[in-house]
Amino acid sequence: TTPAPPLALGHRFADELPELALAWQAEEAPDPRLLLLNEPLARELGLDLDRLHSPDGVRFLLGLSLPDGARPVAQGYAGHQFGGYSPRLGDGRALLLGELPGPGGGVRDLHLKGSGRTPFARGGDGLAAIGPMVREYVVSEAMHALGVPTTRALAVVATGRTVQRDWPLPGAVLARVASSHLRVGSFQYARALDGEGEPDVLRRLADHAIARHHPAAADAGAPYLALFEAVAEVQARLVAQWMNLGFVHGVMNTDNVTISGETIDYGPCAFLDAFDPGTVFSSIDHQGRYAYGNQPPITEWNLARLAEALLPLLDPDEARAIEVATDALGGFRDRYAAHWTAGLRRKLALPDGLDDAVATPLTDDALALLQAGRVDFTSFWRGLGAAARGDTEPVRGLFLDLPGIDAWLERWRAVGPDAAALDRVNPAYVPRNHLVEEALDAAGGGDLAPVGRLLDAVTRPYDVRPGLERYAEPGPEDPAYRTFCG
Ligand code: AMP
Ligand code: MG
Ligand code: MG
Repeated sequence: TTPAPPLALGHRFADELPELALAWQAEEAPDPRLLLLNEPLARELGLDLDRLHSPDGVRFLLGLSLPDGARPVAQGYAGHQFGGYSPRLGDGRALLLGELPGPGGGVRDLHLKGSGRTPFARGGDGLAAIGPMVREYVVSEAMHALGVPTTRALAVVATGRTVQRDWPLPGAVLARVASSHLRVGSFQYARALDGEGEPDVLRRLADHAIARHHPAAADAGAPYLALFEAVAEVQARLVAQWMNLGFVHGVMNTDNVTISGETIDYGPCAFLDAFDPGTVFSSIDHQGRYAYGNQPPITEWNLARLAEALLPLLDPDEARAIEVATDALGGFRDRYAAHWTAGLRRKLALPDGLDDAVATPLTDDALALLQAGRVDFTSFWRGLGAAARGDTEPVRGLFLDLPGIDAWLERWRAVGPDAAALDRVNPAYVPRNHLVEEALDAAGGGDLAPVGRLLDAVTRPYDVRPGLERYAEPGPEDPAYRTFCG
């Protein structure tokens, strides 16, 4: 075999934005062990699989054996956490190792989580436990397979170090890949660094973001306004996808909102079982700020914080800048509504051009029936394929209100939904809470087989396969189910 070309890790972020990039090294790991490696993703990135499986490759995945010229950094950012502003968050337990050429010409960040304390760590230990890193691996890969923009999981490596949480846990490092790690919080931080002076760091950050994610903005009459609008658009599209799938992110702080429109930071996230817009899974979200149904207005709020950070670039006159920003932010609701509505209509396979007077009540009434009956969200949508083919029992079996669902099914079937289209849009397998917990428990005890089976199901979510029946079924009803940040 020909030797793989020497890997190079770029450092464009660190070069262009030194104020946001603190040179730092990953911490040694006493006993590294590769737990999960995403071979298809590694191949896409041109990484050498044999090497990644070797001891030196595993050290690479821990940030301990990097190619010459690599310049790992901890990124600085600020953020509103549960509405309260923290001026200095940053990568407390993470590192940007560098940039790789991505498939299709773009650049991909190679990033670690759990790689040791950095100067941004505040009280934290800089570490991560196997369970939450495996959770991020499984859920982010499921999201990717569902067609949702997301950071990707490359590997989980057990470190052999013990991590103290409420009790001692085995430690791990997650290697992940993203089109960047630029966040709303990066802009808040840059704006604060500039103080009352000229917007210097902010302008470089905005130019970096435009070049990397929204290049069309460079040609607009007002590039920074166009950048904001592009971010509002990708975020509107993203949160609509979450809502269409029943995904609850759980910690939509402004440091966890990307400029690229990718889902980032899988902590206390979970998928809905019963449909209830008030659903909260996170153990620390006592007010329900990040409840399922609050995700669109919270996205708008987060975009308001981005707009505020961008003000000095929108117009030198602050009053005028506020007007421009307010107006641009005002477009979010329509953008979101358009994506959400289009998504719902695809989930019902409503024919193109169907009159709104027919389509809107069909989607509204479906959601009302789901909510009234606390119906399992994923099962309902997936059951529609069979219903369109004439077998309504899988759907009817989810409802107590049989006259209600029968009347709805009759109206819906009358518009002629396409069963094959339904099965391509509504997944059979999502990482349900009870399945994730079961897999993480086993992984914590050293058994990765359940994680492998779950990954097999959720990375081909539309493709129903024999033997995977339990992965398509609702778990035991558990109103007390809580997730943790890890
Ligand atoms: P997150 O809730 O994951 O978005 O993290 C919020 C902030 O806390 C970020 O600045 C993280 O880097 C930091 N952080 C979270 N956990 C730890 C930890 N165990 N050690 C150090 N910093 C942490
Ligand atoms: Mg975060
Ligand atoms: Mg987190």
